Amino acid sequence: MSKVSKTPELKTKAELPPTPKKLCNWVTNNAFDFLGKGIDEFQTDSKYSVIHFCTGVELFLKARLMKEHWSLVVRDMNKADWNDFIKGKCNSVTLEESFLRLAKIANEPISQKKVFMDLADHRNRILHFDHELNRNVPQALRDVASEQCKAWHIIKSLLTEHWKEHFKQLQSKIDELDLKMRKHRAYLQVVFESDYESDIKEEIAQGVIYNDCSSCGNHSAKVMVLLEQPSIQREMCKVCGYDSYPYLVFNCIQCEGKVIFQDENGSCEKCKKEYDIEEVKDILSTTHEGMRNSDIAFTDWEFNCSWCDGYHTVIRNNESFICLNCLEDSDRIESCGWCGEGSINLQDFSGAFGCSQCEGSVGYQLGKDD
Ligand SMILES: [Zn+2]
Ligand SMILES: [Zn+2]
Ligand SMILES: [Zn+2]
Ligand SMILES: [Zn+2]
Repeated sequence: MSKVSKTPELKTKAELPPTPKKLCNWVTNNAFDFLGKGIDEFQTDSKYSVIHFCTGVELFLKARLMKEHWSLVVRDMNKADWNDFIKGKCNSVTLEESFLRLAKIANEPISQKKVFMDLADHRNRILHFDHELNRNVPQALRDVASEQCKAWHIIKSLLTEHWKEHFKQLQSKIDELDLKMRKHRAYLQVVFESDYESDIKEEIAQGVIYNDCSSCGNHSAKVMVLLEQPSIQREMCKVCGYDSYPYLVFNCIQCEGKVIFQDENGSCEKCKKEYDIEEVKDILSTTHEGMRNSDIAFTDWEFNCSWCDGYHTVIRNNESFICLNCLEDSDRIESCGWCGEGSINLQDFSGAFGCSQCEGSVGYQLGKDD
């Protein structure tokens, strides 16, 4: 009998060493899993719901960082080692470090960080202390519903807007989670009807404006007008506490529909035309004709914002100077005592401490001494 020569067996797909892309997909899948689990457990196992939901959110941030490069989720990037990483031997980034890396490396600052920090604080309180959820305090469950509604609203808009190009193949999974979140909204609707509806109706009768809350869906988002013209508004939901942060409202140049502009982008509610910061600068900037609120003459009409460190994000609109990044406004532009750049919200002693664009004389001296 002739011997059959044995050919080396081909490795199955599962045995092949992971690639960065594969690892990123695992993290993404886990993010969906944990978040989904957290949503499911909301009323049955609220304690675990808080923990799983928060883990899911952190995994989404990590997945987004890994889309840039896997080493960005390693806490000490200088020690990032692929072979250790695939064995799970590394300390990963904290929530706060994730925000910082998303802003500085991926150029994707997250404006509503506090919502995520609150989730993490809540999880830590549950892990380390006796918690109200253990004693079935109704307010504690309400807090979980509110926190998760707010966080999901933000994660969903990141996945479908800012991060769309990275997660667009996962739309059906996103829709699935959105469907699950309906239970939270139904729960908060009961809270709205029992505790808030009649007071809000009275306020509306007195002229206060309420919108539907984009987080919990109730007609409980109180509109505050921060600036009349152009209109900068902010909404705060009485039921879930969702704070919209300021947004700009103006009429669409194509169809006169309402455009809501925030986080450097916006779109028309009617014709869906999209607006970026450059286009809004063109629409809202008024012509430069000498500053009434400042005695310094500027030749340029794009200024900086010392509040958000935006470079040339500030426009002049009649008597107001508005930063199109953070939507802070001011009635005056000040000139930096060191570099001369015009800014809103300039800190005192700018000659010594500089502005968002320069280090000031103190920083200059320190740099020279090094
Ligand atoms: Zn709400
Ligand atoms: Zn339009
Ligand atoms: Zn700003
Ligand atoms: Zn300066």
